[in-house]
Amino acid sequence: MFNALLLDKQDDRTVASIQSIDESRLPQGDVLVRIEYSTLNYKDALAITGKGPVVRTFPMVPGIDFAGVVEESTHADYKPGDLVVMNGWGAGETHWGGLAQKARVPAGHLIPLPAGITTRQAMAVGTAGYTAMLCVQALEQHGVAPGDGDVLVTGANGGVGSFAVAILAKRGYRVMASTGRPEEAARLRELGAADIVDRQTLSAPGKPLQKERFAAAVDCVGSHTLANVCASLRYGGAVAACGLAQGMDFPATVAPFILRGVALLGVDSVYVPRERRIAAWNAIAADVPVETIERVASTIPLADAPDSAASLLRGEIKGRVIVDVNA
Ligand code: NDP
Repeated sequence: MFNALLLDKQDDRTVASIQSIDESRLPQGDVLVRIEYSTLNYKDALAITGKGPVVRTFPMVPGIDFAGVVEESTHADYKPGDLVVMNGWGAGETHWGGLAQKARVPAGHLIPLPAGITTRQAMAVGTAGYTAMLCVQALEQHGVAPGDGDVLVTGANGGVGSFAVAILAKRGYRVMASTGRPEEAARLRELGAADIVDRQTLSAPGKPLQKERFAAAVDCVGSHTLANVCASLRYGGAVAACGLAQGMDFPATVAPFILRGVALLGVDSVYVPRERRIAAWNAIAADVPVETIERVASTIPLADAPDSAASLLRGEIKGRVIVDVNA
């Protein structure tokens, strides 16, 4: 038996409860993992509260990521005792995820824990930090470099945003952090932000072309914010778009693309091929100091996940929430 947060549907409402579950109910897979830590991501919060159509089948164990120890394996790549990380691949959406003490998954969904970080630190990074690294790598593959000018991060106090600020600053970029929580400016400066942008200056409908302010951007917010970011990029600039915290819509014009050669780089973390995944995780382990990883995270027990999910959607959480599934 193991403990899990289980989501069920009752009268069209999502109900979350901690349940003791028999291992035989775990889905098929090559590798059985004893989970040490999971996290709360924006998508998990939508799933747990039922506020977004994340879960495809019920009952569901939510949790799009976890880190832990291999307990059993029928796959040559893994043996008992190996430390592993999992994120994406539909965990917590189409098959049982990480907010539990055990998970059984296909070996291809796992990667080895990167050298130099613990399972707890890996979950302080979680899907958010890994997505932030994918965004930075997308910008750099496009040709963005530290000397080019200011780089904007929207949703800077969130999980992806906090890591994007830290990673860009560590790589020598001058980072402008856009936030709706100016009272957290000191925290963002500690992470490496050079200056703060009030998110209200980006969140209302704006002109198709605006003053050229940013060489590049990481956008976690979507909607009018992404449209304004595109309109404010310098000639040849690029934005890595990964989120929809303001909205799924994109009320923009083509002007920045056809008149300034701006590039809109979409970033998905869920189905990224294994090699790019490993490269992103290794870059995090190499580039993000452990003190920064620790500074970005707080830890809660599994039973607190539903309350914290609601707080996350109310925008009350700073940085990352690690879930200690054994606490
Ligand atoms: P968080 O909830 O931790 O952060 C979101 C941040 O967005 C908030 O902290 C807030 O930042 C800002 N925000 C919230 N509401 C609004 C609003 N109405 N208007 C403008 N800004 C707002 O989420 P994550 O960092 O985990 O995820 C960020 C986004 O990225 C989410 O939309 C998530 O779904 C997406 N995502 C996508 C992935 C992918 O594979 N493409 C992977 C991971 C996440 P502040 O307080 O600083 O203003």
